[in-house]
Amino acid sequence: MIVTCLDLEGVLVPEIWIAFAEKTGIEKLRLTTRDIPDYDELMRGRLKILDENNLKLSDIEEVIGGIAPLPGAKEFLSWLESEFQVIILSDTFNQFAGPLMAQLDHPTLFCHDLIVDETGRIADYRLRIPDAKTKAVAALKGLNLKVIAAGDSYNDTGMLKEADAGILFRAPDNVVKEFPQFPVTKTYEEFKTAILEARDKLGC
Ligand SMILES: [Mg+2]
Repeated sequence: MIVTCLDLEGVLVPEIWIAFAEKTGIEKLRLTTRDIPDYDELMRGRLKILDENNLKLSDIEEVIGGIAPLPGAKEFLSWLESEFQVIILSDTFNQFAGPLMAQLDHPTLFCHDLIVDETGRIADYRLRIPDAKTKAVAALKGLNLKVIAAGDSYNDTGMLKEADAGILFRAPDNVVKEFPQFPVTKTYEEFKTAILEARDKLGC
């Protein structure tokens, strides 16, 4: 049996922090895992900027409330779920993901948690486990499942390597160049084709 593990932001929904950067006009919030491979460095920087600008969880939630899945994402996901078991492995936070998951009909999601204080300030974040995506894929393989993993950023490349087949979707040039072993897809049609090709190669 094959499980497909999908990244969330950049694959099914827009980048939440980029949407928030656009709303607030804070350029530095545009940086994502596409730009900074070290997730802790990225998150520490984001939390510092939120504090400096007195921005709370509610300010981010307001922006997320206006975000819709990427065009075609819902149809793609529903096709994928008809063909495979699907788990979304994301480095986002449960506090952010809720409204977006509702728009995708609540697929299975493993992500992280924010630590929010009594004033609504995001005080910290808690990774469920470091390198969660890669470890999830390794654990699934340990259950005698084959895994096809797909994502767009540096934080996906560990799980892509760990999986039986890895696919890049709408990855930036720097990631494509650094990881030439993975097929590169840009549209959901290409993505489907690459997933079906990977299934054929796995012989499942
Ligand atoms: Mg992503």
